[in-house]
Amino acid sequence: MREIVRELFDFIEKSPSVFHVVENMRLELLERGYEQLLESEAWNLKAGGKYFVIRNGSSLIAFRIPKEDYKGFQIMASHSDSPTFKIKENPEMEAEGTYVRLNVEKYGGALLGPWFDRPLSVAGRVLVRENVAAGGRIISKLVNVDRDLLLIPSLAIHMNREANDGYKYNVQKDLIPLYGMDLTKGTFMEQISEAAGVCAEDVVGHDLFLYNRTKGSIWGAKEEFISSGKLDDLQCAFASLKGFLAAEEGAGESVPVHCVFDNEEVGSSTRQGAASTFLQDTLVRVNEGMGRSSADYRRSLSQSFMLSADNAHAVHPNYPDKACPTNRPKINGGIVVKYNAEQRYTTDGVAAAIFKNLCQRADVPCQTFHNRSDERGGSTLGNLSGNQVAVKCADIGLAQLAMHSPYETAGAADTDYLVRVAKLFFEATVVEAEYGAVELR
Ligand code: ZN
Repeated sequence: MREIVRELFDFIEKSPSVFHVVENMRLELLERGYEQLLESEAWNLKAGGKYFVIRNGSSLIAFRIPKEDYKGFQIMASHSDSPTFKIKENPEMEAEGTYVRLNVEKYGGALLGPWFDRPLSVAGRVLVRENVAAGGRIISKLVNVDRDLLLIPSLAIHMNREANDGYKYNVQKDLIPLYGMDLTKGTFMEQISEAAGVCAEDVVGHDLFLYNRTKGSIWGAKEEFISSGKLDDLQCAFASLKGFLAAEEGAGESVPVHCVFDNEEVGSSTRQGAASTFLQDTLVRVNEGMGRSSADYRRSLSQSFMLSADNAHAVHPNYPDKACPTNRPKINGGIVVKYNAEQRYTTDGVAAAIFKNLCQRADVPCQTFHNRSDERGGSTLGNLSGNQVAVKCADIGLAQLAMHSPYETAGAADTDYLVRVAKLFFEATVVEAEYGAVELR
């Protein structure tokens, strides 16, 4: 259990931005013999082949084609992004002729308070002009300023005696990180270029985000808790990949598909988000590549199943009244199955039955989540990707506290549970027997 948590922390620490998440998965897949496909090229797919495709450097879909003709797709989806702040263009801002600060804007529904008074840094990608003479090629380079670089200092209690009585944060005023003293003016992009190993004048674009430098921790009386940045949703993304790679190759009658989408925290409606055509485009090309008809594609969708894996709220020890009276997920209580009558979570009776059956087979506990009936709650991936790829889906996740804080808390035992269920899921086949009935093989 400890070992898998250490592995998870290691993955999160080397993934300070969405681009790093996808690059780390890419490297692991290459090492395991997967072939990278480009959307811009023809795909020469073979039965028994192992492939992956990346869009925008921030979303990834990996799949294995069975040796025999396949039935459907066993898809597990999670997201690569987390709430943070994005560095604006022309970011340097002076204050008092003494300080240099960086202008940022909010990305996603961050819990703002916990961003204060902790070491932060910057990671993402820079677009670099290469060899202009040869036609002006632009390449993308990952960058991580791997040291404590920034901090957002809070205002002393003496200067705002009401600070503890509730405070409305203004992102443009309160959340501006401090970068240096006046002599550092004009050096930020130089720092970034240096960290990327390129010349500042060749950088023609960037997508740079803040990240929390605090490392993951295992804690509690019996080390039952884990805390780290980005547990939502890298805990699920990590478990999905681990389960996908651990699954016995050729075990099921379907195509196992591991996908990680960007931009969940800002509504998923981007070219690489869960609401985009990325998954559909990929599955259609798999279908075509295997010489199957469009009717075959539709038949295979009816025999497919998706797990939308995104973390869930555990009952909070200090706010037990915030949880639904009868569905109260516990830390280390196993996989959370999420329900919502208005279908912001896709789980219905059939999908729940399939998933519970899977948990039972993996000998993994599961529990249930509903929002309180008077709370709106969040949304996630399953209902959005279902618009493009209409497959039966269950929304699941791992129980956690402080969702969307830059330092979240979850259970030390739960990651392992999800890896075990994911492995079994990728080895299984869901077959629609008749209206409303399905069979899990
Ligand atoms: Zn999430």
